[in-house]
Amino acid sequence: MKYFFPDSLDLVDPSFDFEKETRSPDRVRHRDDQYAHELFSSPAYDGLLVSKGIVDGFGGSGSRYTLAQRHRLLRIGAQEFFRSSSLNLPIIGDCGAFTYVRESVPPYTVDEVIQFYEECRFDFGISVDHVILTYQPKFDELALIPDTIPIEIQQRQEITLQLAAEFLAKNREMKLCFEPIGVAQGWSPQSYAHSVQELQKMGYTYIALGGMVPLKTKEILAVLAAINELRSPNTRLHLLGVTRTDHVGAFASYGVVSFDSTSPLRQAFKDDKDNYYTLDRTYTAIRVPQVDGNPRLQRLIVSGAVSQERARHLEKSCLDALRQYTAGECSLDQALDAIVAYDSFCEPKKNLREVYREVLTDRPWESCLCDICRRLGYHVILFRGAERNRRRGFHNVWVFYRRLQRELGLLQDDLTEARAVPV
Ligand SMILES: [Zn+2]
Repeated sequence: MKYFFPDSLDLVDPSFDFEKETRSPDRVRHRDDQYAHELFSSPAYDGLLVSKGIVDGFGGSGSRYTLAQRHRLLRIGAQEFFRSSSLNLPIIGDCGAFTYVRESVPPYTVDEVIQFYEECRFDFGISVDHVILTYQPKFDELALIPDTIPIEIQQRQEITLQLAAEFLAKNREMKLCFEPIGVAQGWSPQSYAHSVQELQKMGYTYIALGGMVPLKTKEILAVLAAINELRSPNTRLHLLGVTRTDHVGAFASYGVVSFDSTSPLRQAFKDDKDNYYTLDRTYTAIRVPQVDGNPRLQRLIVSGAVSQERARHLEKSCLDALRQYTAGECSLDQALDAIVAYDSFCEPKKNLREVYREVLTDRPWESCLCDICRRLGYHVILFRGAERNRRRGFHNVWVFYRRLQRELGLLQDDLTEARAVPV
């Protein structure tokens, strides 16, 4: 079971000084920055997934990629751009169908997508697809009654299959270097199975299941069971955007060989509480927003509702208290007083004192073997600025990969390997 990490140009600056919060003046963006796979001394994923929609910034979300970076990726190819070739990380190209889910038809032609995959020199390429956002198993019982299944979702499946046929035909005709992966979209177990059957007939042996992000685990298992009834022995499956380590054994028995997900990274700074992973649970990161970089605080300061001086004083006291507590120079309650004073100043309706008490008592970063926790110490638990938040996300990806290895019965080796690395 391979885990592919979806790219959105997530890098950290190794020159960042966490005490002074400054960077090296000589740092050149991207060139001097590090991807997660450059930062860890043991693997955090098996490969990368790069989406055209993300690289192009489709859907108004804007791209992390500058125009120059986009051109460079296409010119030198993905392995060189991601500095991943020495690690043998395979790269999957994808359209990023979620970036255009609101369009009536995909905004890209098969030719445009093939050109993108070829220029990037990907190892695998996913056919152009259109996500179906509906999941209704009861449609399987109504399938024979006319007009019960909305025409719009049937059209999305039809478009996805037509584009997959064109994609495979062109891949063969042009003798392209990447292995094609066909996408199955559906709204129920039987409709997914139908898509897989059609893709197998076309000649696909690697099939990605799309639109499963919002599905519950038992719904995913129901879809996989229906597919399994007609799956050819040589058909391998990929789950797009699915993060469930607790059922990898069952997934594997249904022919799933790979999946991708950004959840471990994004939870570090998007989730209300599950920001820091350990092998067995999650913790809430301690919010210490930067007075200068926090739009809400800045608005309050500009409107005169709070004083900038007071905000700066509380922020500094909070950072000092965290440093002193972790160095054994003040008590837990003294530290919590300072943290909660700043926290309730920034978010008056919340009181996370007991939540913070738990994470500061357990100090999970001290027992984590990842390179980030060992180098960064308690800074990894601070919800503050992209350099800390993204590193905590990388840590989560690393831990997530070990959870996966544990489910697959492979964890022991990895932890031994991690211990052998000098601090
Ligand atoms: Zn860690």
